[in-house]
Amino acid sequence: MRIVLLGAPGAGKGTQCKRIVDRYGVLHLSSGDILRKERSEKTELGKKAQSYMDSGALVPDEIIVAMMSGAIEKAPEAGFVLDGFPRTVNQARELDKSLASNNEQVDIVINLKIDDQVVMDRMTGRRSCPKCGAVYHINNLKPKVEGKCDNDGSELIQRTDDTAEVVAERLKTYHQQTEPVADYYRRNDNVCDINALGDIDQITDLIFKHLDVFAKS
Ligand code: AMP
Repeated sequence: MRIVLLGAPGAGKGTQCKRIVDRYGVLHLSSGDILRKERSEKTELGKKAQSYMDSGALVPDEIIVAMMSGAIEKAPEAGFVLDGFPRTVNQARELDKSLASNNEQVDIVINLKIDDQVVMDRMTGRRSCPKCGAVYHINNLKPKVEGKCDNDGSELIQRTDDTAEVVAERLKTYHQQTEPVADYYRRNDNVCDINALGDIDQITDLIFKHLDVFAKS
């Protein structure tokens, strides 16, 4: 299965991707996570991406497309779920081209829909574990001990791009550049719009209902 998960930052893509991976055995490829790893390892790519990420802007397409094509090539037979990529229509076109060269295509696009104000509240309250990547929220998904990861006890951190100013900028970028990606895929008739406001488990069930159709075929 080749799945694309679209949605504003903070729509819950990361959380849902982990569940999709557990159920279908696909590889989770998050462009944001890959970039953050490159940054923390201070690679050339990481250094190039840093200023864009800190300001809430998008990293240039050619850097991202090369990075993600390399990652997709290593995906297992079961397939992959893309999280945070493609984020521009140009990236979507490049992805299509690169898949088509292997006689493949995106099978299904899950589009998580959510209001800007909800995104703002979710993201500014988000905390994550620098060690295992687990994600929490100061109000909605509290760790058992305040400020500590349930899995390994690490001190939870706030991402530098989860501050109110940067989130506002990321939302602007999303509306201008990423929303048109859903419309780009609509012509293939394989976009499932899902309301991402509500119970996390119910949203997962809805996503599974759509994906099960492909898993069984
Ligand atoms: P995310 O964790 O997916 O919200 O990504 C964090 C940041 O990484 C974004 O605000 C962008 O600066 C950068 N980024 C992630 N994915 C992409 C992409 N597909 N294209 C361009 N920039 C990206």
